[in-house]
Amino acid sequence: MFRHDIIIVGGGLAGLRAALAIRGADVAVISRVHPLRSHSVAAQGGINAALAKNDRWEDHAFDTIKGSDYLADQDAVEVLCQDAPARVIEMERWGALFSRTDEGMIAQRPFGGAGYPRTAYAEDRTGHALLHTMYEQALKNGIKFYEEWLVTRLVVKTPYLNTGTNNGRCSGVVGYNIANGRIEGFLAKAVIFATGGYGRIYRRSTNSIINTGFGCAVAYRSGVALSDMEFVQFHPTTLYGTNILITEGARGEGGLLKNKHGERFMARYSPHLLDLAPRDIVARAIQTEINEGRGFEGGYVHLELMHIGGRKIKERLPGIRQIAMDFANIDPIEEPIPIQPAQHYSMGGIASNKNCETSLSGFYVCGECSCLSVHGANRLGGNSLLETIVFGKLAGENAAMFANGIGFEAADIMEKAVHGELQRVSALLGKNEGEAFFKIRDELKEIMDEKVGIFRDEENLKAALGKIRELKMRYGSVYVRNKGTVFNQELVNAIELEGMLDIAEVICIGAIERKESRGSHFRLDYPARDDANWLRHTLVTFAPEGLRVEYKPVNITMYPPKPREY
Ligand SMILES: Cc1cc2nc3c(=O)[nH]c(=O)nc-3n(C[C@H](O)[C@H](O)[C@H](O)COP(=O)(O)OP(=O)(O)OC[C@H]3O[C@@H](n4cnc5c(N)ncnc54)[C@H](O)[C@@H]3O)c2cc1C
Repeated sequence: MFRHDIIIVGGGLAGLRAALAIRGADVAVISRVHPLRSHSVAAQGGINAALAKNDRWEDHAFDTIKGSDYLADQDAVEVLCQDAPARVIEMERWGALFSRTDEGMIAQRPFGGAGYPRTAYAEDRTGHALLHTMYEQALKNGIKFYEEWLVTRLVVKTPYLNTGTNNGRCSGVVGYNIANGRIEGFLAKAVIFATGGYGRIYRRSTNSIINTGFGCAVAYRSGVALSDMEFVQFHPTTLYGTNILITEGARGEGGLLKNKHGERFMARYSPHLLDLAPRDIVARAIQTEINEGRGFEGGYVHLELMHIGGRKIKERLPGIRQIAMDFANIDPIEEPIPIQPAQHYSMGGIASNKNCETSLSGFYVCGECSCLSVHGANRLGGNSLLETIVFGKLAGENAAMFANGIGFEAADIMEKAVHGELQRVSALLGKNEGEAFFKIRDELKEIMDEKVGIFRDEENLKAALGKIRELKMRYGSVYVRNKGTVFNQELVNAIELEGMLDIAEVICIGAIERKESRGSHFRLDYPARDDANWLRHTLVTFAPEGLRVEYKPVNITMYPPKPREY
């Protein structure tokens, strides 16, 4: 058994920023992959902060809240936008090489739904620049890493410091060492989850393969609610065929969307912001063009960059050009890029307040796995990288404060938890026949793409839920052919699949119940936003006897809801 004051699960930007915020306590980071392989490294377009003299954090907050279709908790948005400049400058001082203006200032580009060019960037590889910088800082500060461990369970003792609606105190985690197959307990005074998003429950997704949402699923099975899971972001521009992201920065630099008639169709959907409307609006516009026969054969439209010129493309969008050349054999300097919408981001996540606390004392969350909620029903591009560093820092500080002065729980509950996980793994390995995990996984992805996508309605959502529940039954017969202990990815995938099914079920239930359209959640059978009934967050809690759906009000401070026009 391992023992650290604070355990952070997740080696992406949020987890590492949390680790750097902890002083005077012994901290360790556990990650399913080497930290530099976390999805944060793939972020492209940039990070938002009101850095310019004539920009204001209040304007950033307003854009974020309007972008969220008024579902964001405004007290949390205030924290996000007020702290943004300090956190971005801190990254710069730590060594992140941002692109520059001719005057030597940090360059900022226009992004969707923003009233000001507020997105700081490092070419189109911003995540790479930030994560490498953060990791250097973590090494410099001697942070302890457990790499290639999958955390499969929270260790919870009830009841203790019972403050929330739920539960007791979190006193550690159980991990599966992917490299050698061992299962170990990690005793901790406080635990932070920074486990990222769940994009890979969809087939078409811009997310890394590891983004299965398993962290959210682990928290859910421990009785912590998941919030607003029905809000799934579909990015408008992903490369046709592979769904690799083509950053919004491409439109920020002047890229244009055109249908097969060469028409700039965004004029019909967002007369003012056009191609730089928020993502939910642009994704629906593209999908409508495709569905109504104005897309190209196979289901895509064009993103044109040719007119912005080779020099600018090479300077500001070199990664996008490389992706288009490598994966579509297209040089965007000469030809348009074929694009279609695909799953991109998880607005929902583990329910928490603006202090990153959950209903389980000693259990904190930050980054994409959390729902604070700063993105509400639709996230603005550039706000997610920002969220990781603003709330990563807060999660670290608050967890350290909690851990300071309290003791470790007795090790006996840990032994029980480890035993439970040993049983789970030996049950999977012990079976010699049944169904292969990937059949169930592939059917899940198919159904999520088809029936829980950009346009939704009751009939399709209910059919999806029925299918997901059938897949959950079938999961009982999953078996693993590879019985090895060394890097048994088949076993890891089979374990994660159970969590993916849970997450999919929660998304579907939230989407069926929410009888309105707001942000990314668009119901063909309820096409209008309904503030009277639905200006509230969904909370879904797991219970062995069946899950529970509840709602909580949205925190509104500065900006009362208005119709959302762009
Ligand atoms: C292609 C792409 C481009 C993007 N571009 C931008 C952008 O330009 N601007 C912007 O603001 N946002 C962007 N985003 C979103 C943003 O990058 C992410 O939301 C953010 O980086 C998430 O950071 P994180 O630290 O929360 O999680 P991640 O970086 O995803 O890290 C999750 C970590 O958790 C670990 N982990 C997960 N589960 C477990 C487990 N059970 N046990 C052990 N470890 C576990 C993983 O190993 C990993 O280290 C982009 C996203 C994508 C997919």
